[in-house]
Amino acid sequence: MKAVQIAKVAGIPIKIHWTFGLFIVLILGYGFSNDMRGTDLLWFLGFIGAMFVCVILHEYGHALSARRYGVKTIDIIISPIGGLARLERLPKKPIQELIVAIAGPLVNVVIGMIIFIVLYSFHQDFSFLKVGDNFKSITHPSGFFGLLIWTNGILFFFNLIPAFPMDGGRILRALLTMKYGRVTGTRWAATFGRLLAILFIAFAVFTKDYMLIFIGIFVYVMAGSESQQVEVESILDKVKAKKVMRTDFSRIHLSDHLSVLFDIYIRGGEKNFLIFDSLGNVSGVIPELFLKQAFREGRLEETTANEYMSTNLLSVDQDISLKHLFEKMNKKGVAIALIKSNDELVGIVDRSILQNYIQLHMGKK
Ligand code: ZN
Repeated sequence: MKAVQIAKVAGIPIKIHWTFGLFIVLILGYGFSNDMRGTDLLWFLGFIGAMFVCVILHEYGHALSARRYGVKTIDIIISPIGGLARLERLPKKPIQELIVAIAGPLVNVVIGMIIFIVLYSFHQDFSFLKVGDNFKSITHPSGFFGLLIWTNGILFFFNLIPAFPMDGGRILRALLTMKYGRVTGTRWAATFGRLLAILFIAFAVFTKDYMLIFIGIFVYVMAGSESQQVEVESILDKVKAKKVMRTDFSRIHLSDHLSVLFDIYIRGGEKNFLIFDSLGNVSGVIPELFLKQAFREGRLEETTANEYMSTNLLSVDQDISLKHLFEKMNKKGVAIALIKSNDELVGIVDRSILQNYIQLHMGKK
C-alpha cells in the first residue's frame, strides 16, 4: 500500500493513501464545474477537510480503545473510501474486540451530539438540520455544521452494517465468537456479510447504481479474506513444527557451487537450503529467491554457496506452534527456519512447507 505519512498523533502515524490525491483532484473538479468561486470553494474544501477529521477521529476511537487492551496500532491510513486503523493483532477476548469495534462509530455519535448541542444553543430551533441537496448550504456556519451532523450520522450507520470490513462485521463476529469460537464465528460473520453483499449488488443492479455495485463487490471480496486469515491462523495454531518439518534436507557445504543446489532445486521438493561449514555447523542459508536470481544472472557455475548465502538465521525449538513460527519468520524476514531439539538441529521448516500445509487443510474441518 503506497501511503505517505502526514502526521503522528498519540504515537500513531497517520498516512494518506496516494489515491487520496486523485480524490482531491476530483473534488476540486466538482467545485469548479459547479461554478464555485472564492469563499464558496473555501467553505467546500473546509467541509471535505472537516469530514476527514471526523473519519480520523473515528479511527482513533478504535486505536485508543485497542491500546487499553495492549494492542498497538501500526498506522491509520486514509483513503477516499474511508479510514483504516491497522491493528497489530486482534484483541484476545471477544468482548474486547466488540468494544474496540464499537468505539469508532461511537466517536461519530459524540461528535454529532456536540455539534448538535452547540448549534441548538445558538438557534433554539432545529432549522440547522434542514440541509439542501447541493453544497450551497454549507457556505454559512449553520448549514456547514448542520451537514456535518448528518455526515457523522451516515458514518455511524454505514459502519454498523454487519459485514466485513465494516465495524458492524467485527461486532457481529465478536458476538458469534462468544458462543461459537473465533473460527466458526468469523466464518458465520463472513457468510452473513456475503449474503448482505449479494442482496446489495442485486438491489444496485435493479436500480442501475453502478457505484453501489462496486461497493457490493468490494464487501463480498473483503468478507472472504477476513475469514480466510482467521482460518489459516487457527490451522497453524494447532500444529507443532516437529510435525511438519523436513528431516531429510540436503547438507550443502560452504564451498559447493550454486549449481549443486540448483540441481536439487529443479528436481522438486527442496526450495530453501542450509549451508554448513566443515565442522557441521550451519553458517548461512540460501533461499529460493537468491537461487533464482543467481540462475537469471547466469552465475550458478562460478559462485560458491559461501559467496552468495545470507547469514540471517532463525533457530526455534521443535515444539513451537506453526503460528508462532510463521510470525517469527515474518518478523525476521527469513524463508527457512532451523528446527532444534535440545539445541541439536533435527529438521527445517520453510515457506513452501507452511504453504502446502495450509493449502491441504483449508476448508477441511
Ligand atoms: Zn471503524
